[in-house]
Amino acid sequence: MAEISLKCSCGTVQGTASNITVKSGLRMVCYCKSCQAFAKHLNQEDKVLDEFGGTEVFLIPPSEVKFHQGSDQLRCMRVTSKGPYRWYTECCKTPVGNTIKSSIPFFTMVHNIMEHEAKSENSLGSIKAHLNGKDARGNLPPEKIKSRPPLKTILGLISRMSMWKIKGLNKPSPFFNASGEPTSKPSRPAA
Ligand SMILES: [Zn+2]
Ligand SMILES: [Zn+2]
Repeated sequence: MAEISLKCSCGTVQGTASNITVKSGLRMVCYCKSCQAFAKHLNQEDKVLDEFGGTEVFLIPPSEVKFHQGSDQLRCMRVTSKGPYRWYTECCKTPVGNTIKSSIPFFTMVHNIMEHEAKSENSLGSIKAHLNGKDARGNLPPEKIKSRPPLKTILGLISRMSMWKIKGLNKPSPFFNASGEPTSKPSRPAA
């Protein structure tokens, strides 16, 4: 599948992610406390997190993401002062994904913004890594608790991000303006 549709749960924000294949990005689940806190601040834990508190994401370069409707509804927050910019929609608090800064071709798209049909093994491939399993809730199966993803996955991630950087796929980005500032002022959720 080359292109998948993005849509928040109320339909105000709509867009596409291009060049999506099982080899183009990396499908991962992150159990870290900050990802859990993000879902909690949005009051979307039941829709975002799996039974162990994991958030499923798909890593792609930000330049593949375009919003053709409702981009003025995009907001971002930082759960910790140095943490990633975590994007969501103001209209219905759908999580969109996480970015680091404008120079880094990194966008982990949260599963909720992808249209239902897109979230399959056929379009995204299998889950390649379970991250921060030590922060999971309940009894995560032992093979998912490993603190680090397999070397093959790390190398895959490094090689993809290096290639994306060489190709300049960190921009254009719907999340940063030309001077590298986030397009929405980051908020810090109340503790
Ligand atoms: Zn919405
Ligand atoms: Zn996380």
